[in-house]
Amino acid sequence: MNNTELRNGGRAADSGKGYVYIVGAGPGDPELITLKAERVLRDADVILYDDLVSFELVDQFSALKIYTGKRKDSHHFEQEEINREIVRHASEGKTVVRLKGGDPFIFGRGGEEIDTLRSSGIHYEIIPGITAAHGASAYTEIPLTMRRISSSVAFCTGHPVNNIQVPDTDTIVYYMVASTVHDVLDAVAAKGRCGSTMVAVVQNATRYNQKIYTGTLDEFRTREKAVYSPALLIIGDSIGQFIEHNWHSRKKKVLMTGGDSSRYSSTDYIMVHFPCRKISGTDLDEVNRCLASLDEYSVLFFPNKFSVKYFFRFLFESGRDVRSLAHMTICTAGSAAAAELQESGLVADHYLEPDGTAGYAERLKESGIIGSSILLPGSNNIDDAFVARLRNLGNRVTPLSVYAHEVRQEEAIDLDCIDEIYFSSPVCVRNFRTLFDAIPGRITVTTADRSTQKEYSTLFGS
Ligand code: SAH
Repeated sequence: MNNTELRNGGRAADSGKGYVYIVGAGPGDPELITLKAERVLRDADVILYDDLVSFELVDQFSALKIYTGKRKDSHHFEQEEINREIVRHASEGKTVVRLKGGDPFIFGRGGEEIDTLRSSGIHYEIIPGITAAHGASAYTEIPLTMRRISSSVAFCTGHPVNNIQVPDTDTIVYYMVASTVHDVLDAVAAKGRCGSTMVAVVQNATRYNQKIYTGTLDEFRTREKAVYSPALLIIGDSIGQFIEHNWHSRKKKVLMTGGDSSRYSSTDYIMVHFPCRKISGTDLDEVNRCLASLDEYSVLFFPNKFSVKYFFRFLFESGRDVRSLAHMTICTAGSAAAAELQESGLVADHYLEPDGTAGYAERLKESGIIGSSILLPGSNNIDDAFVARLRNLGNRVTPLSVYAHEVRQEEAIDLDCIDEIYFSSPVCVRNFRTLFDAIPGRITVTTADRSTQKEYSTLFGS
């Protein structure tokens, strides 16, 4: 392998053309993705992702992200345009991941995309994903095959209504049925399936808000119940009586606002990560001005993991590396920031445990950080009280916004499905308040520290 191939992960460079991975993201639970998919996402330059791919998943990667779904307020991409975008980025020599919900080759149009890549002479590979039927099966305890009850299974689509196929298998899973459930059930009955055959509708399979309705074919045909996308219809007698009380429904659902959800992963809970912010661009001129004058600062203080991540990205992009920080004392707050710093090969001189902003200032004083010139990378919303405390110690403080906090309106959370909410900072409480006026009393609320608790009491009056 030569050097270029090594850089390309073993792929031979082909006249400067990039490389495309067509990747299945799984059905919704962000952990249901393969190790291989995770690796290529980490190395990608561009990620083009669909509606059914969770933000929680794509947020973890630093590539340029292009949303190609159909949500309101965003540009609507036709398949042709998606194909052109993939080819355009690959032709610029980039590594492109085309990320699709479930598996790319099950109602995923992956076949059309590889036709385009083949005719454009672009190299690609395909990484399978867990399709919705498999996710729903596991998370609702419906075996798709079962000894003596079901020895065959088919995956079908409920679209278009004039062409609904009813194969002669014991279990049938229908995709894309939100508006056609009754048409599908009529077609199944017309094919002679017994009225007592079991039926289940699974909405949002594998997600915190998974919902499941069961009954017999006859019952479902007369029931007027709206089905919301994404939903699957499963027909077959391996559907048990008690699946509404499956392992997934029994777990507590905890909404984590902000912070790093991986730090709180637990087998006892289902963590719903709700960042309350979109990590996005910032004022590049200001960042570059600061990077060009690093000599003027004697202390670099990272208040959280994102400040580390984005500061270093800008540092490296500007052609500098850690040597340009050699003269500075480096401080981090919280273990996630310290761990992120180590990724860049640096160990903090002072590591502060989160203890409210007053505590930080006190610790900095003990560490002798007084009368210094501090560069403080952070969000566009750096805590003024903290800056004031640092200044009171005689420090000159330059807050530098390296990422932006924004509330993501489009990603509404269904509080009916949540048992507990954890607020990781006052900003998260504030952002959450812009989306929800009140928190239902049955939900337990916990906060990271005193200042977050105070903000919660002020804004939600408890
Ligand atoms: N390639 C995808 C399917 C895309 S078609 C896969 O392999 O799963 C879109 C349809 O998939 C939706 O209309 C719905 O029927 C189904 N689907 C995808 N994710 C789902 C989920 N989490 N819960 C229920 N159905 C889902």
